[in-house]
Amino acid sequence: MEKFPQAHDLLVSEGAAIEITPVAPAPMRQLLRVHTSGYLRKLAHGTLTDNEVYKLGLPWQPRLLHRSSLETAATVAACRHALDHGMAANLAGGTHHAFPDRGLGYCVLNDVAVAVRGLQTKHPSLRVFIADTDAHQGNGNNAIFRGDRRVFTYSIHGERNYPSAKEAGNRDVGLPRQVSGDDYLTALSNTLPPSLDSFPADLVIWISGADVHERDRFGQMKLTTEHMTGRDRRVIDWCLDRRLPLVILYGGGYHREPGMTAHLHANTISTAAMAFRAIQSSNDRPARLPDLPEKDQPGVPSLRMTSGA
Ligand SMILES: [Zn+2]
Repeated sequence: MEKFPQAHDLLVSEGAAIEITPVAPAPMRQLLRVHTSGYLRKLAHGTLTDNEVYKLGLPWQPRLLHRSSLETAATVAACRHALDHGMAANLAGGTHHAFPDRGLGYCVLNDVAVAVRGLQTKHPSLRVFIADTDAHQGNGNNAIFRGDRRVFTYSIHGERNYPSAKEAGNRDVGLPRQVSGDDYLTALSNTLPPSLDSFPADLVIWISGADVHERDRFGQMKLTTEHMTGRDRRVIDWCLDRRLPLVILYGGGYHREPGMTAHLHANTISTAAMAFRAIQSSNDRPARLPDLPEKDQPGVPSLRMTSGA
Protein backbone atom coordinates (compact mmCIF):
# COMPACT_ATOMS: atom_id res chain seq x y z
CA MET A 1 0.00 0.00 0.00
CA GLU A 2 2.53 2.56 -1.15
CA LYS A 3 -0.19 5.10 -1.89
CA PHE A 4 -0.52 6.04 1.77
CA PRO A 5 3.06 7.18 2.45
CA GLN A 6 3.24 8.66 -1.06
CA ALA A 7 0.23 10.90 -0.45
CA HIS A 8 1.66 11.90 2.92
CA ASP A 9 4.98 12.85 1.33
CA LEU A 10 3.27 14.78 -1.47
CA LEU A 11 1.29 16.87 1.00
CA VAL A 12 4.38 17.60 3.06
CA SER A 13 6.50 18.51 0.02
CA GLU A 14 3.76 20.75 -1.39
CA GLY A 15 3.65 22.61 1.92
CA ALA A 16 -0.11 22.07 2.29
CA ALA A 17 -1.64 24.04 5.15
CA ILE A 18 -2.06 21.01 7.36
CA GLU A 19 -0.83 19.67 10.67
CA ILE A 20 -0.05 15.94 10.68
CA THR A 21 -0.40 13.99 13.92
CA PRO A 22 0.55 10.31 14.30
CA VAL A 23 -1.75 8.00 16.27
CA ALA A 24 -1.44 4.82 18.32
CA PRO A 25 -3.47 1.74 17.30
CA ALA A 26 -7.13 1.67 18.35
CA PRO A 27 -7.47 -0.49 21.47
CA MET A 28 -9.41 -3.74 21.35
CA ARG A 29 -12.24 -2.31 23.50
CA GLN A 30 -12.92 0.27 20.77
CA LEU A 31 -12.91 -2.34 18.00
CA LEU A 32 -15.31 -4.51 20.01
CA ARG A 33 -17.95 -1.77 19.79
CA VAL A 34 -18.44 -2.94 16.20
CA HIS A 35 -16.52 -6.14 15.52
CA THR A 36 -17.12 -9.57 16.97
CA SER A 37 -14.51 -11.05 19.28
CA GLY A 38 -14.39 -14.13 17.05
CA TYR A 39 -13.41 -12.11 13.98
CA LEU A 40 -10.82 -10.06 15.88
CA ARG A 41 -9.33 -13.27 17.24
CA LYS A 42 -8.99 -14.67 13.72
CA LEU A 43 -7.25 -11.47 12.61
CA ALA A 44 -4.91 -11.59 15.59
CA HIS A 45 -4.00 -15.25 15.25
CA GLY A 46 -4.12 -15.75 11.49
CA THR A 47 -6.95 -18.28 11.60
CA LEU A 48 -9.15 -16.83 8.85
CA THR A 49 -10.38 -19.52 6.48
CA ASP A 50 -9.21 -19.56 2.86
CA ASN A 51 -12.63 -18.29 1.80
CA GLU A 52 -12.46 -15.43 4.32
CA VAL A 53 -9.02 -14.44 3.04
CA TYR A 54 -10.31 -14.61 -0.54
CA LYS A 55 -13.26 -12.34 0.24
CA LEU A 56 -11.03 -9.91 2.14
CA GLY A 57 -8.70 -9.73 -0.87
CA LEU A 58 -5.59 -9.36 1.29
CA PRO A 59 -3.27 -12.11 2.51
CA TRP A 60 -3.17 -12.48 6.27
CA GLN A 61 0.06 -11.31 7.83
CA PRO A 62 1.05 -10.68 11.44
CA ARG A 63 0.76 -6.88 11.09
CA LEU A 64 -2.64 -6.86 9.38
CA LEU A 65 -4.62 -6.18 12.56
CA HIS A 66 -2.03 -3.67 13.79
CA ARG A 67 -2.12 -1.69 10.53
CA SER A 68 -5.92 -1.71 10.42
CA SER A 69 -6.12 -0.63 14.07
CA LEU A 70 -3.85 2.32 13.29
CA GLU A 71 -6.03 3.30 10.36
CA THR A 72 -9.12 3.05 12.56
CA ALA A 73 -7.51 5.13 15.32
CA ALA A 74 -6.77 7.86 12.78
CA THR A 75 -10.45 8.04 11.80
CA VAL A 76 -11.43 8.20 15.49
CA ALA A 77 -8.95 11.05 16.03
CA ALA A 78 -10.06 12.88 12.88
CA CYS A 79 -13.71 12.77 14.03
CA ARG A 80 -12.79 14.22 17.40
CA HIS A 81 -10.71 16.96 15.85
CA ALA A 82 -13.37 17.89 13.29
CA LEU A 83 -16.00 18.19 16.03
CA ASP A 84 -13.70 20.44 18.03
CA HIS A 85 -12.19 22.49 15.24
CA GLY A 86 -14.18 22.12 12.03
CA MET A 87 -12.25 19.84 9.67
CA ALA A 88 -9.83 16.93 9.75
CA ALA A 89 -8.74 14.05 7.56
CA ASN A 90 -7.28 10.60 7.88
CA LEU A 91 -4.45 9.92 5.42
CA ALA A 92 -6.07 6.48 4.91
CA GLY A 93 -9.43 5.09 6.10
CA GLY A 94 -12.90 4.74 4.67
CA THR A 95 -12.88 0.94 4.81
CA HIS A 96 -16.60 0.79 4.10
CA HIS A 97 -16.94 -2.86 3.00
CA ALA A 98 -16.02 -4.35 6.40
CA PHE A 99 -18.81 -5.99 8.42
CA PRO A 100 -18.75 -6.75 12.17
CA ASP A 101 -17.80 -10.39 11.61
CA ARG A 102 -15.85 -10.31 8.35
CA GLY A 103 -13.64 -8.27 6.08
CA LEU A 104 -14.48 -7.70 2.42
CA GLY A 105 -12.92 -5.96 -0.57
CA TYR A 106 -9.59 -4.93 1.05
CA CYS A 107 -11.44 -3.62 4.12
CA VAL A 108 -10.32 -5.32 7.35
CA LEU A 109 -11.97 -3.19 10.04
CA ASN A 110 -14.81 -0.70 9.61
CA ASP A 111 -13.10 2.49 10.80
CA VAL A 112 -16.17 4.71 10.36
CA ALA A 113 -18.39 2.40 12.38
CA VAL A 114 -15.83 2.15 15.20
CA ALA A 115 -15.48 5.94 15.27
CA VAL A 116 -19.23 6.62 15.21
CA ARG A 117 -20.01 4.04 17.90
CA GLY A 118 -17.31 5.63 20.06
CA LEU A 119 -18.76 9.11 19.57
CA GLN A 120 -22.23 7.81 20.40
CA THR A 121 -21.08 6.51 23.78
CA LYS A 122 -20.11 10.04 24.79
CA HIS A 123 -22.74 11.95 22.84
CA PRO A 124 -25.76 9.66 22.42
CA SER A 125 -27.77 12.19 20.41
CA LEU A 126 -24.96 13.07 17.99
CA ARG A 127 -26.12 12.86 14.36
CA VAL A 128 -23.63 11.74 11.75
CA PHE A 129 -23.97 11.94 7.96
CA ILE A 130 -21.80 9.51 6.00
CA ALA A 131 -21.19 10.80 2.46
CA ASP A 132 -19.65 8.02 0.40
CA THR A 133 -18.44 9.00 -3.08
CA ASP A 134 -16.15 6.01 -3.56
CA ALA A 135 -16.97 4.18 -6.80
CA HIS A 136 -18.21 1.16 -4.82
CA GLN A 137 -21.27 1.03 -2.56
CA GLY A 138 -20.55 1.38 1.18
CA ASN A 139 -22.31 -1.90 1.92
CA GLY A 140 -20.71 -2.46 5.34
CA ASN A 141 -21.68 0.99 6.58
CA ASN A 142 -25.20 0.67 5.18
CA ALA A 143 -25.72 -2.65 6.96
CA ILE A 144 -24.18 -1.57 10.27
CA PHE A 145 -26.12 1.69 10.55
CA ARG A 146 -29.45 0.53 9.13
CA GLY A 147 -32.13 1.40 11.63
CA ASP A 148 -29.95 3.88 13.53
CA ARG A 149 -31.84 7.14 13.13
CA ARG A 150 -28.80 9.10 14.30
CA VAL A 151 -26.80 8.10 11.22
CA PHE A 152 -27.58 8.89 7.56
CA THR A 153 -25.82 6.82 4.92
CA TYR A 154 -25.44 8.32 1.43
CA SER A 155 -23.61 6.37 -1.27
CA ILE A 156 -23.13 7.22 -4.96
CA HIS A 157 -21.57 4.32 -6.84
CA GLY A 158 -21.62 2.04 -9.86
CA GLU A 159 -24.86 0.06 -9.73
CA ARG A 160 -23.29 -2.97 -11.46
CA ASN A 161 -19.90 -2.69 -9.77
CA TYR A 162 -18.65 -4.46 -6.61
CA PRO A 163 -20.23 -5.41 -4.25
CA SER A 164 -22.71 -7.49 -6.20
CA ALA A 165 -24.96 -7.82 -3.15
CA LYS A 166 -25.86 -4.22 -2.31
CA GLU A 167 -27.09 -3.24 1.15
CA ALA A 168 -29.80 -0.58 1.24
CA GLY A 169 -28.78 2.71 2.85
CA ASN A 170 -30.69 5.92 3.46
CA ARG A 171 -29.84 7.24 -0.02
CA ASP A 172 -28.25 5.04 -2.66
CA VAL A 173 -27.47 6.53 -6.06
CA GLY A 174 -26.60 3.73 -8.48
CA LEU A 175 -24.90 4.93 -11.67
CA PRO A 176 -24.45 3.09 -14.99
CA ARG A 177 -21.12 1.50 -15.97
CA GLN A 178 -18.57 3.96 -17.40
CA VAL A 179 -20.66 6.95 -16.32
CA SER A 180 -19.22 10.19 -17.73
CA GLY A 181 -17.73 12.79 -15.41
CA ASP A 182 -20.44 15.31 -16.31
CA ASP A 183 -23.24 12.83 -15.63
CA TYR A 184 -21.59 11.85 -12.34
CA LEU A 185 -21.41 15.47 -11.19
CA THR A 186 -25.02 16.09 -12.22
CA ALA A 187 -26.20 13.06 -10.25
CA LEU A 188 -24.10 14.11 -7.25
CA SER A 189 -25.42 17.68 -7.37
CA ASN A 190 -29.02 16.45 -7.66
CA THR A 191 -28.83 14.10 -4.68
CA LEU A 192 -26.19 14.98 -2.08
CA PRO A 193 -27.28 18.54 -1.16
CA PRO A 194 -30.96 17.52 -0.69
CA SER A 195 -29.82 14.59 1.43
CA LEU A 196 -27.67 16.89 3.58
CA ASP A 197 -30.67 19.21 3.97
CA SER A 198 -32.95 16.34 4.95
CA PHE A 199 -30.89 15.33 7.98
CA PRO A 200 -29.78 17.70 10.75
CA ALA A 201 -26.21 16.41 11.03
CA ASP A 202 -23.64 17.42 13.64
CA LEU A 203 -20.78 15.84 11.67
CA VAL A 204 -20.16 14.72 8.09
CA ILE A 205 -17.79 11.83 7.41
CA TRP A 206 -16.83 11.87 3.73
CA ILE A 207 -15.35 8.74 2.17
CA SER A 208 -13.97 10.40 -0.93
CA GLY A 209 -12.58 7.56 -3.08
CA ALA A 210 -10.03 8.07 -5.85
CA ASP A 211 -11.36 5.08 -7.78
CA VAL A 212 -13.89 7.19 -9.68
CA HIS A 213 -11.01 8.29 -11.95
CA GLU A 214 -11.20 7.24 -15.63
CA ARG A 215 -7.90 5.36 -15.43
CA ASP A 216 -8.69 3.44 -12.26
CA ARG A 217 -8.55 -0.34 -12.59
CA PHE A 218 -11.72 -1.10 -10.62
CA GLY A 219 -13.90 2.03 -10.56
CA GLN A 220 -15.69 1.68 -13.94
CA MET A 221 -16.26 5.44 -14.08
CA LYS A 222 -14.98 8.13 -16.44
CA LEU A 223 -14.07 11.11 -14.28
CA THR A 224 -11.02 13.07 -15.37
CA THR A 225 -8.71 14.63 -12.79
CA GLU A 226 -10.60 17.91 -13.37
CA HIS A 227 -13.93 16.21 -12.75
CA MET A 228 -12.53 14.81 -9.51
CA THR A 229 -11.42 18.25 -8.40
CA GLY A 230 -14.92 19.47 -9.26
CA ARG A 231 -16.40 16.69 -7.15
CA ASP A 232 -14.12 17.52 -4.23
CA ARG A 233 -14.88 21.26 -4.37
CA ARG A 234 -18.61 20.59 -4.43
CA VAL A 235 -18.64 18.20 -1.47
CA ILE A 236 -16.36 20.44 0.60
CA ASP A 237 -18.32 23.61 -0.23
CA TRP A 238 -21.67 21.97 0.48
CA CYS A 239 -20.43 21.04 3.96
CA LEU A 240 -18.71 24.34 4.67
CA ASP A 241 -21.74 26.34 3.42
CA ARG A 242 -23.86 24.45 5.94
CA ARG A 243 -21.24 24.98 8.68
CA LEU A 244 -20.92 21.24 9.13
CA PRO A 245 -17.77 19.78 10.74
CA LEU A 246 -16.16 17.55 8.10
CA VAL A 247 -13.95 14.47 8.27
CA ILE A 248 -12.29 13.35 5.03
CA LEU A 249 -11.27 9.72 4.50
CA TYR A 250 -9.57 8.18 1.48
CA GLY A 251 -11.65 5.19 0.45
CA GLY A 252 -10.35 3.21 -2.53
CA GLY A 253 -8.01 4.01 -5.38
CA TYR A 254 -6.31 1.62 -7.83
CA HIS A 255 -4.95 3.80 -10.59
CA ARG A 256 -3.17 2.18 -13.55
CA GLU A 257 -0.37 4.71 -13.39
CA PRO A 258 2.00 4.35 -10.42
CA GLY A 259 1.74 7.27 -8.00
CA MET A 260 -1.50 8.66 -9.44
CA THR A 261 -3.76 7.32 -6.68
CA ALA A 262 -1.59 9.08 -4.09
CA HIS A 263 -1.64 12.23 -6.22
CA LEU A 264 -5.46 12.17 -6.41
CA HIS A 265 -5.83 11.59 -2.67
CA ALA A 266 -3.40 14.43 -1.95
CA ASN A 267 -5.38 16.69 -4.32
CA THR A 268 -8.55 16.06 -2.32
CA ILE A 269 -6.82 16.99 0.94
CA SER A 270 -5.17 20.08 -0.57
CA THR A 271 -8.49 21.26 -1.99
CA ALA A 272 -10.07 20.86 1.45
CA ALA A 273 -7.20 22.64 3.18
CA MET A 274 -7.47 25.62 0.83
CA ALA A 275 -11.25 25.87 1.21
CA PHE A 276 -10.94 25.62 4.97
CA ARG A 277 -8.26 28.29 5.11
CA ALA A 278 -10.61 30.58 3.18
CA ILE A 279 -13.35 30.26 5.80
CA GLN A 280 -10.79 30.73 8.58
CA SER A 281 -9.84 34.07 7.10
CA SER A 282 -13.50 35.03 6.72
CA ASN A 283 -13.85 34.40 10.47
CA ASP A 284 -16.66 31.91 9.96
CA ARG A 285 -17.22 29.10 12.41
CA PRO A 286 -18.38 25.50 12.03
CA ALA A 287 -21.61 24.33 13.60
CA ARG A 288 -21.68 24.22 17.39
CA LEU A 289 -22.64 21.09 19.21
CA PRO A 290 -25.58 21.56 21.56
CA ASP A 291 -24.64 18.77 23.95
CA LEU A 292 -20.97 19.63 24.44
CA PRO A 293 -19.89 21.73 27.42
CA GLU A 294 -18.62 25.21 26.57
CA LYS A 295 -14.98 24.24 26.88
CA ASP A 296 -15.47 21.57 24.20
CA GLN A 297 -17.22 23.87 21.75
CA PRO A 298 -15.45 24.50 18.47
CA GLY A 299 -12.90 27.27 18.75
CA VAL A 300 -10.63 28.62 16.07
CA PRO A 301 -11.14 26.36 13.06
CA SER A 302 -8.13 24.25 12.28
CA LEU A 303 -7.41 21.46 9.86
CA ARG A 304 -5.50 18.50 11.12
CA MET A 305 -4.53 15.26 9.44
CA THR A 306 -4.05 12.03 11.28
CA SER A 307 -1.76 9.43 9.89
CA GLY A 308 -2.54 5.80 10.51
CA ALA A 309 -0.87 4.06 7.62
ZN1 LIG B 1 -13.95 1.70 -4.05
